[in-house]
Amino acid sequence: MADFLSPSERSQRMSRIRSSDTAPELALRRELHRLGLRYTLGNKKLVGKPDLVFPRHRTIVFVHGCFWHRHQGCSICTTPKSNTPFWQEKFDRNVARDTRVSAQLEAMGWRVLITWECELQSGIRTRATAERLAGLIRAGSA
Ligand SMILES: [Zn+2]
Repeated sequence: MADFLSPSERSQRMSRIRSSDTAPELALRRELHRLGLRYTLGNKKLVGKPDLVFPRHRTIVFVHGCFWHRHQGCSICTTPKSNTPFWQEKFDRNVARDTRVSAQLEAMGWRVLITWECELQSGIRTRATAERLAGLIRAGSA
């Protein structure tokens, strides 16, 4: 990520990842729906407030931003050159939380799938990602 974001741009970016209604996620939801999968959104009773919940398949899908959730090997997953220890600590916390949340959900009998924002960056990629996820979601409930 660029290091030259102004504080307001940066906080905008930060607030964006909290939102569950980003354009890539909406596109993914549309594709999954087209593939016949039915989900519930933003289930607040579940730990981690999962983005998409497929109750019939006992499966949860998180849509992770590559920067904040540290998609290893991904070009979006950069580390700012200034204030590096601050960012590193923040990233470490995010990754630790993701790991903890997944473990808790799995302990409750959910299957947890992760998809990354870079897998949703065009209509074609989103469609391919949705088809892959749909296969995984359906396979789990067989
Ligand atoms: Zn990525």
